[in-house]
Amino acid sequence: MVLVLQILLVLFLIILIVLIAFRIRKPKPLDQLPENYKELLHDYVTFYRELDEAGKEHFEQRIDQFLSAVKITGIHAEAEDLDRILIAAGAIIPVFAIPDWQYINLHEVLLYPGAFNEEFDQHGTDRNIAGMVGTGALQYAMVLTKWQVRQGFINNNDTRNTAIHEFVHLVDKMDGTIDGVPEIILERKYIDQWKQLMHTTMQQIRINGSDIDMYATTNTAEFFAVVSEYFFKQPDLLQSNHPDVFHMLQRIYKTGKTAYT
Ligand SMILES: [Zn+2]
Repeated sequence: MVLVLQILLVLFLIILIVLIAFRIRKPKPLDQLPENYKELLHDYVTFYRELDEAGKEHFEQRIDQFLSAVKITGIHAEAEDLDRILIAAGAIIPVFAIPDWQYINLHEVLLYPGAFNEEFDQHGTDRNIAGMVGTGALQYAMVLTKWQVRQGFINNNDTRNTAIHEFVHLVDKMDGTIDGVPEIILERKYIDQWKQLMHTTMQQIRINGSDIDMYATTNTAEFFAVVSEYFFKQPDLLQSNHPDVFHMLQRIYKTGKTAYT
């Protein structure tokens, strides 16, 4: 009888240990993501599609964390599941290789249906006013437009992605100034080299034209945002057409051989 009780006790303890271990190992539920999030990411986000299984799982956790920290509000537009996923993807892609990155300078994304009306054409506006990092009273906000955010992910034939562009401005802003030099993530020893490369490349674009969007010549902040879009959207093309820019962006974003690793 005593032996039976001892066996039962041991079995009970084993079950208890297994249950506790399972509970500890069980990842946090992705409660900010819609049921079909894998399908949406797979269909629309090339960056995600090219990750391995572990990378995909990590990406899903990162976008879930982003959505739990940042509110997305539709203004005259519905922020649908797809929009939330794409905005979060645009936020995470540039910082995917930087562990524990948090957009502490962002609380809310305001999503407008299409290009802004003229009233928004005041501070820090971007080409065709497709997106804007807020300043002044809106300093913890970002304005994006639904149409442009979607186009950035749907159209894979160009080098543009408005969401990535605006989040790169936020990464740049983290050191206090939006100037094309993201000092928080770029090692100090490369700063002068990067500044020099930005100026030479901007000059070359002005003189000879380029497949880099002319908007990049506006200033160094826009140069950094525009070439970053290109880097994350068409890494192979950027590597072959502008190897120096490509290698510096690899250093900045801590990516490996390709932008997807
Ligand atoms: Zn910009």
